[in-house]
Amino acid sequence: MQDSDCIFCRIAQGQIPALRVWESDAALAFLDVAPLAHGHLLLIPKQHYHDVRDVPAEVLAALTSQLPALAGAVMRATDATGLNLLQNTGRSSGQAVFHLHFHLIPRTEADGLGYRWNAGKYGEGQAQDLQSRILDELRP
Ligand code: 5GP
Ligand code: ZN
Repeated sequence: MQDSDCIFCRIAQGQIPALRVWESDAALAFLDVAPLAHGHLLLIPKQHYHDVRDVPAEVLAALTSQLPALAGAVMRATDATGLNLLQNTGRSSGQAVFHLHFHLIPRTEADGLGYRWNAGKYGEGQAQDLQSRILDELRP
C-alpha cells in the first residue's frame, strides 16, 4: 500500500533521498529536512497510513519497537538531555504530511523550543461525562 503522491512513500521507496539512520522491512527512520533541533528524526512505516487511527496495531508495534534504541542514539549523538516524541494526527494538530510519522526531537535546557501547555480544568461532571463517552466509543 503506497501512494505515489506521498512524499514519505517516495522516501520509503528510495525515489527521494533522505538521510537514513535505521530501517527494517516495515519501517524507516531518517533526519527531518527542516529540523526543530539538530538530530530531529522522523520514524515512519514504509506502508502508507494516514495517521495513528488507521495504522494496524501490529504495524505500529513493529514501528515503535525501535524507539528505545533510536531515542538513546540520537540523544547521545547530539548531547541532548531530553527528547520530545511527537505524533501529529490531523491538520488541526499541525500534521502537514499525511503519512503516519513520529517526530523524535532532541532537547536541551534553554534550547528555546516549547509549546503552549495551557492546562485547563473541568467543570462539575464534565470529566465523568467525557469518560463515559470515550468508554462508549471504545465498546466493541
Ligand atoms: P508534520 O507537521 O506532518 O507532523 O511533520 C512533517 C515533517 O516532515 C516536517 O517536520 C517536515 O520538515 C518534514 N518533511 C517534509 N518533507 C520532507 C522531506 O522531503 N524530507 C524530509 N527528510 N523531511 C521532510
Ligand atoms: Zn505515504
